[in-house]
Parts: sequence; structure tokens; C-alpha cells
Amino acid sequence: MTIITDPRCAEYSARGHPERPERIIGTVEFLKAQDKLALTWSEPLAAGDEVILRAHTREHLDRLQTAVDFDADTPAYPGIAGHARRSVGGALQALAAARAGRSALSLMRPPGHHATADRAMGFCYLNSVAIAALEARETGCGRVAVFDFDVHHGNGTEEMLLDKPGLAFISIHHFPLYPGTGGSHRGRNCFNFPVAPGTPRQEYREILGDAFAQLRNFRPDLVAVSAGFDSYRGDPLADGTLEAEDFYWIGQTLRGLEVPAFSVLEGGYSTELPELILAYLRGLEG
Ligand SMILES: [Zn+2]
Repeated sequence: MTIITDPRCAEYSARGHPERPERIIGTVEFLKAQDKLALTWSEPLAAGDEVILRAHTREHLDRLQTAVDFDADTPAYPGIAGHARRSVGGALQALAAARAGRSALSLMRPPGHHATADRAMGFCYLNSVAIAALEARETGCGRVAVFDFDVHHGNGTEEMLLDKPGLAFISIHHFPLYPGTGGSHRGRNCFNFPVAPGTPRQEYREILGDAFAQLRNFRPDLVAVSAGFDSYRGDPLADGTLEAEDFYWIGQTLRGLEVPAFSVLEGGYSTELPELILAYLRGLEG
């Protein structure tokens, strides 16, 4: 298992914002101190404009350089364009690892799955997972699926992958909840599994099973995972019910697909985030 991270991703913050540097700092410390799982560490690749512009508009890339907040949740932090670009580079490095036969997690911030072609929103600026999925397709991967288990719907990823050949988007998330999309399937290749907030975990696991069945049905050659840990029962941003062992089970089920896969950190705002990530990684490693 390879963890891709860069300490610079902890260099921006806003007081009281749940998407905070400690998410990464605490997880890195915790993963380095544990001895249950052997880890190798790596750094993000450089992410050039050409790769990013498959998913985003030039206007959007330029807009990231301006000092005007995108919305109340998504401030124009100094240097955010560089931070977002490094987070994309983490996903690209994770993709490279998966192609070389190694499991990998990009442990970076900011997250990306809400960012649309022309809009930063919901703590997200550039859509790392979609950019990596499009890059995989462009460079010879047959069928690429994005599997998103963040508690929020990956509206940006859906928009970028919608009806694109060789790509599928499969998401399980609370509905209704921010950003308000994902209530039903869309187009030929976007499959949404909405779950009512507060749904008991056993029921949530059954719906996860349906989402995994859809993923298998697509017969992917590669799976890119938007790994969000905010459906955890202790998360402050949603009314989730999942336990650490459920994230272990998600990892285990992904491993059971026997398809190369890589993961990109999306949400997860509880103080238990490091433990949840380790549980997931242990499941992935079997
Ligand atoms: Zn989320």
C-alpha cells in the first residue's frame, strides 16, 4: 500500500472550517505510528494544464488565481490553485501506482468531487478523481469506473463523466443532503444510490451492496475511488451511522473485485478520521 501525500497540503486553513489541516497531519502521524499495515510513502506527480483541461475550463483555472471566495464553504485561500493542483497530482500518482500493480491512496487536500468544469464549490477546487479517470482513459485504460462512497453526492464527477464512453460513475450518498443532486440514475453511465440520512448501518450496507453490484456489472478495468469518511456515525457534517468496520468492509469488497484500484481522499471530518482511513486500507490489503 502506497500513501501519497505532501506536507504543503496542510499550509492553508480558515478558522472554524471543518476541512482543516489536522485531517491530513493527524492521519499521517497516525499511519506512521501504527504497525498493522506496511506502508510506502510517495509524493504527488506534477499535474500539467493539458491533463486538467480535459475536465475543467481554462476560465476556471484562471479564476482559481483570483482572491474572491467561491462560496461561503469554499474560500479563495492564498495559493489555492497550487494546492488544488498538487491534490490532482496525488490522484495521478495513485493512478500510476495502481497501473504498476500497487494499491494507493492519495492523502491530500483539498478534496475534489464537488468541483465542476467551471465552478469551485463544497470545499473542492479541481476534481482530482475525474481528472485521473479521464487521464486513465486517454492513456489506454479500457473501462474506468469512479466509485464514490463519500456521504455527499459527487456532483462534479458525475457532470464530467456523464455519457462519456468507457467511463462510469457509481455513487452512494445521503439524499437529501448537500449538494442536492444524486437522487436517481443519470444518463447511460451515472448510477446513484441515495440513502436517507440516519438510515441504520445494516440497511446502508445493503444499499452499498447494490452499488457494488452495479460496479461489478460495468466490468471495469480500473476503479478510481472517491473515498469519503463522512458517513461515519461520529462525523459532524452528516447524520451517518457507519462504524470503522464498515469502512474495512468497503475496502475488502473493493479488493474482492480483483481489479486495479486507487483511492483519493474526499471528505471525513471527525476526529476519528485516521482510524477510519486505516480500517479502509486494511480492508483493501486483505
Ligand atoms: Zn462529503
